[in-house]
Amino acid sequence: MKVFVINIDKCVGCHGCQVGCKDEHCGNDWSPYAKPQPEIGQFWIKVNQQERGAKPHVKVTYFPVLCQHCDNAPCIKAGRGAVYKREDGLVLIDPDKAKGMKQLVDSCPYHAIYWNEQEQLPQKCTGCAHLLDGDHPISVPRCFDNCQVGAILFGEESEMDLQGTEIFHPEYGTKPRVYYRGLPKRFVAGTIYDPAAKEVIIGARCTLNSVDGKVAAIAETNNYGDFWLRNLPEDDFTLTVTAGKKTKILNVSTKEMDIGLGDVPLA
Ligand code: SF4
Ligand code: SF4
Repeated sequence: MKVFVINIDKCVGCHGCQVGCKDEHCGNDWSPYAKPQPEIGQFWIKVNQQERGAKPHVKVTYFPVLCQHCDNAPCIKAGRGAVYKREDGLVLIDPDKAKGMKQLVDSCPYHAIYWNEQEQLPQKCTGCAHLLDGDHPISVPRCFDNCQVGAILFGEESEMDLQGTEIFHPEYGTKPRVYYRGLPKRFVAGTIYDPAAKEVIIGARCTLNSVDGKVAAIAETNNYGDFWLRNLPEDDFTLTVTAGKKTKILNVSTKEMDIGLGDVPLA
């Protein structure tokens, strides 16, 4: 059974995977695996860009998303025989049987299925099954082959290192065959300064407590007065900043977004 492993920490946002997919599928009819992918409007693999935090504490994350080739796939249930799972785990839409089945687009919680108006077909990533099955110079998915930094891996589940990986949106319950490393977690960051001295404070202790009082993260400000509290859950917290005899307490919430506090005076 095949799996993809995507390392968000390695992805540099070059879109090489997206370009490789387009090159492989636009203008090429790989029936019975898939009809040609339209040149515009479809991204069988899409590199999402997330800008997180607020200036100057900003992180940019590149996040490739493709069909998750789910073992408990809602698209298969909705497809009434037009969508099927292969023995190697890949999920394919049959381009003959799925003609006119626009409702399949809404069946995928990952928004991985696109509508081809001209062909009247729902379409998505095939795992490049035509390359895996056929006698081609490249016998792996093009997105994997095109990724120059090794952010996308593909192979037999039994031979892949899945330790420390996570699935995207486990709450959907679809049992994806795409695993991720480095899925973004929330952060709280800021710069602590002394307003009287007009200087940043180095070595200020920043402690984040959850509402039940447990310590969630601790950091000290660096030579620029900056602190970063990383790998946080989505929750409400109290931030306590101390330096010498000075203390400041702030309420912060990572429920909706990462938090860049900017300059924080400690008087
Ligand atoms: Fe189906 Fe969407 Fe899961 Fe792919 S990600 S198998 S299209 S439900
Ligand atoms: Fe596109 Fe093939 Fe990668 Fe799927 S496996 S995203 S079809 S290049």
